[in-house]
Amino acid sequence: MNPRTLRNVVSTLFTKQMLQQVRLAVISHAKAEPGICPACNYEGRFAPFGMPVRTGVMCPKCWSLERQRLLALAMKRRDIEIEGREIIHFAGEYSVTHLILSKGPKSYKISEYEGDHGDVRLNIENIDLPDNSLDLVIANHILEHIDDRKALSEIHRVLRPGGEIICMVPIIEGWSETYENSSVTDPVARDMHFGQWDHVRYYGSDVRDRIREAGFDLREVTAGPEDVLRYRLSRGEKIFIGRK
Ligand SMILES: [Zn+2]
Repeated sequence: MNPRTLRNVVSTLFTKQMLQQVRLAVISHAKAEPGICPACNYEGRFAPFGMPVRTGVMCPKCWSLERQRLLALAMKRRDIEIEGREIIHFAGEYSVTHLILSKGPKSYKISEYEGDHGDVRLNIENIDLPDNSLDLVIANHILEHIDDRKALSEIHRVLRPGGEIICMVPIIEGWSETYENSSVTDPVARDMHFGQWDHVRYYGSDVRDRIREAGFDLREVTAGPEDVLRYRLSRGEKIFIGRK
C-alpha cells in the first residue's frame, strides 16, 4: 500500500481527535511516573486509559484502575476485613480477586447479573438470599445504574448484624444534592447528564444520607497525598463502608 492510500485509510477509520488522543497517550506514557499496585504488587509505569486519555492509570499486570487499587489498599491495611467472612462481590472486580482470596474469607462469590462469568446471578434490587446471611457485600460503581434505595435496603436485609457494605460511586462533593432526572432516558442524553450512557443519577455529597437511611452506620476511606502518588490513586476518591 502506498503512503497516500495508507493515509486515506487511517483518516477514514479514525477522526483527527482520536489520533490526537493516541498521540497524547504515547507521549504521556513515556513521561508517566512509576508507581506500585497494591492489588498485585507490580512496580513500574502504569498504562494510559480512557477517552479522553488519562496518564498512568491502568496496572499492566492485573488491569486495576485507581478505584480497585484504593480498594486493595484498604484491604491490605485492614480498613476492610476479609478473613473469616462470607462475601458477595457484585459485578466482580477481577483485579482484586487474588488479594481477597489470599486474605482467607469464609466464602467469596462474584455475582454477575449479565453474562456467565460469575459464581452466582443475583438481582441486587431483589436479592435471592435469606435475611442475615452475609458478612460483606462489595457493590462498587453499581448504585448509580439502578434503584439505589431498593438495593441498599436489600443489602441491609441480607447482611448479618455487624456485616458491612462496601460501595464506591461517582460523586460531585461540591453538590449537596444528588442530581436525578427521570425524563432523561436516552443513552446519549444520560451520558451528558449523568456522565455515562447507562447511569441514572450523579451523586452529590448526600449519598451519605441514602446509605444511612437504609440503616447503616457509615465510615469512609480516602487516600492521602502520599498514597495517591505511590499507588497512582484518584485524589479524593471515597470508599463508603456501611455497617449494619
Ligand atoms: Zn496490579
